Amino acid sequence: MSMMPDQPGTWLHPTADGLYCGPGGFHIDPARPVERAVVTHGHSDHARPGHGAVLATPETVAIMKVRYGADAAGRFETLDYGVTTRIGDASVRLVPAGHILGSAQVVVEWRGVRAVVSGDYKRAPDPTCAPFEPVACDVFVTEATFALPVFRAVPAEREIGRLLRSLSDEPGRTHLVGVYGLGKCQRLIALLRHAGYDRTIHLHGALAPLCALYEELGVALGPLARVAPDGGRAGLPGEIVLAPPSALADRWSRRFTDPVTAFASGWMAIRGRARQRGVELPLVISDHADWTGLVRTALETGADEVWVTHGRDDALVHELGKHGVAARALALVGFDDEGD
Ligand SMILES: [Zn+2]
Ligand SMILES: [Zn+2]
Repeated sequence: MSMMPDQPGTWLHPTADGLYCGPGGFHIDPARPVERAVVTHGHSDHARPGHGAVLATPETVAIMKVRYGADAAGRFETLDYGVTTRIGDASVRLVPAGHILGSAQVVVEWRGVRAVVSGDYKRAPDPTCAPFEPVACDVFVTEATFALPVFRAVPAEREIGRLLRSLSDEPGRTHLVGVYGLGKCQRLIALLRHAGYDRTIHLHGALAPLCALYEELGVALGPLARVAPDGGRAGLPGEIVLAPPSALADRWSRRFTDPVTAFASGWMAIRGRARQRGVELPLVISDHADWTGLVRTALETGADEVWVTHGRDDALVHELGKHGVAARALALVGFDDEGD
């Protein structure tokens, strides 16, 4: 569909600050402070403080304010899913990406050419956010965090079942689960609730503010309690305690009773990673598309060009090439995949 002279690449292109839309005068998920940013979701490698103006979903704006403060941008503007707005000469619409609460694909159009910047996304169901919606486009801009055939999603429910089985097999031990604070934490809690686990879930204090925000935004998480800062000597045997990954190995974790250390992440698909981190119970729960999901999604959009922003770009570029899609790596800097 794309044709000269309005070919993307001229009106939408990578810069040192990130992807830039010339006719709209905005960057998408810029790595450095810019005048005008459109932000796909709240993870820190996509949403950064210091921009003149930020346009994002109401949920993403709320997340940015909790994490960085209400004055983290000169101006915040919200745009609901599915509503088209104009920025400069471009039109912009946000569509669910299925990655975390508020996560969006940015649909940009200029002179009849449509590009979709998907940010981070997944195709697997997630009770804490709206599901990914494929959008037909000329250019599809994709991540490639888990773009190797070795990354194959397993149903998250199965991993939750393993956690609950371990809890009943080892009732005297605390189950200490490492989770990233935005997205993974709340998804894990919601999945436990869906599996019928209705006991209090204990949280490291650092996880509490975003859980409170999710609840405020309508995601029910059930009974939660903060682990007291000094812990006393409660030990919490037989209970589930969630903590940021960095807390798993530090002295904070020593208060618990003979803990089973678990870690919920897409990276747990690599056994060596789990061993290296001393994880006894690796839970493969990813908020990114797996290999099949990445390839299928890119083809489903019908795009004749696919740009890969970050991650394992060469495998994906090669695979899409086999399907006749012109794919190229943008190798954008500054993405470290906070959420997985
Ligand atoms: Zn993310
Ligand atoms: Zn990311």
